[in-house]
Amino acid sequence: MSQPAANKNDASIEQELYKKREKIYPREVHGIFAALRLLAMGALLGIYYGLPWINWDGHQAVLFDLPARKFHIFGLTFWPQDFFYLSMLLIIAAIALFMFTALAGRLWCGYACPQTVWTEIYMWIEQKIEGGSKKQKKRDKGPRDASYFVVKGTKHGAWLLFSLWTGFTFVGYFTPIQELWTSFLSWNLGPWETFWIFFYGFATYGNAGFMREQVCIYMCPYARFQSAMFDHDTLVISYDEKRGNPRGSRKRGTPSANVGLGDCIDCGLCVQVCPVGIDIRDGLQYQCIGCAACIDVCDDVMDKMGYPRGLVKYTTENSLQGKPTKIIRPRIWVYISILSIVSAGLMYGLLTRIPLEVDIIRDRNVLYTETDMGLVQNVYNLKLINMDAQPQRFRLSVSGLEGLQVIGQTEGIEIDSGAVIDLPLRIEIDPIALKSTSSEIMFHIESEITPDLSIDEHARFLGPVSR
Ligand code: SF4
Ligand code: SF4
Repeated sequence: MSQPAANKNDASIEQELYKKREKIYPREVHGIFAALRLLAMGALLGIYYGLPWINWDGHQAVLFDLPARKFHIFGLTFWPQDFFYLSMLLIIAAIALFMFTALAGRLWCGYACPQTVWTEIYMWIEQKIEGGSKKQKKRDKGPRDASYFVVKGTKHGAWLLFSLWTGFTFVGYFTPIQELWTSFLSWNLGPWETFWIFFYGFATYGNAGFMREQVCIYMCPYARFQSAMFDHDTLVISYDEKRGNPRGSRKRGTPSANVGLGDCIDCGLCVQVCPVGIDIRDGLQYQCIGCAACIDVCDDVMDKMGYPRGLVKYTTENSLQGKPTKIIRPRIWVYISILSIVSAGLMYGLLTRIPLEVDIIRDRNVLYTETDMGLVQNVYNLKLINMDAQPQRFRLSVSGLEGLQVIGQTEGIEIDSGAVIDLPLRIEIDPIALKSTSSEIMFHIESEITPDLSIDEHARFLGPVSR
């Protein structure tokens, strides 16, 4: 849709409200940063696709078992009660991201963001099947003949298979992946599993195959607010204007001074390799995902021209202006301090975590009863959760009032790893021992297998006061 300009004299000027996306065909690039990106991509994809297949202590090493409300992470079992640790982990991840952005700009976007990593792999598949950027462009502009459909069909087939494998792996983090694989082979997947495999698979296919740079430019909130974390000492990818301008072509090996030009030969390769289609020579732009492809290609050009590398490079604004760059500055200290405090808190929490949860529920129907023997009796139901990685056997005792008697199982209470049991108990006491209508008592539960595993839990004992 377009709007005609209001001014008659400017009738030819139209303001476009919506512009159709023009597909970007980034040229293949080789170099140090391309190799680093490949390394990061291999490591991250290896972790994503490999992790669910690793077993640990007889369990899937990482499994978010939502129906059972348990998260297994390398021998540790987390419950909804452990939400605190998850929140700490999220805070650490957020602060670390802020700190790395302040230090190194869009390092996350260029090397580790799932959108970048999957887009890279989809582009790699595309280049292997369709050929380089020139071939792709030519095919897209050419006739829709049989070869066009064969090549495109093969590419989309490969993308779809990869997407479905991605979706399958995603579901494998929530349903034991070995069982999922067996169900898949016997064509017996449940409706939810099927839905999520297709949903996640198609989301990947759409985002990495089609949307690509549009996700970074129009959808990603991080791209919008990260500039708030940038300062003049943040590492950015920048074109050295002083050295590069005025730009112009010349014969290979010609010294720039001889032709009265800067070192930029205006070859346009930095634009051709850019996955978001911008020109780094126009200055720092929010669309730039910091992939460093323009550095690699420009270094290659500089090598061929016999000029020093680094016309496009990682630098800071201060450095470009000839000022010193400060790596550790006040805001970095603030991030380091917060990170240290929260990480220490998380470590302390994990090291002192008791993998046993006890809920004591008093019988609410009656406050207390009197037995035929004249004793006062309270009824409790204990809910015991063994959050340990191994089965446990517990013993129980109650203290706080003299002469308490526990009626019910107090020894050899067996609970499987990750299991919950209900333990009904009655506690009796001679009313003479009661000093108040509500007395505090203490349940002490300890493992008969693991000496350090014990927990104390308070409860109230109700009864009449003897006169
Ligand atoms: S690749 Fe380097 S030399 Fe070529 S246009 Fe870009 S900045 Fe100039
Ligand atoms: S400008 Fe350079 S670093 Fe930024 S996205 Fe384009 S190629 Fe990557």
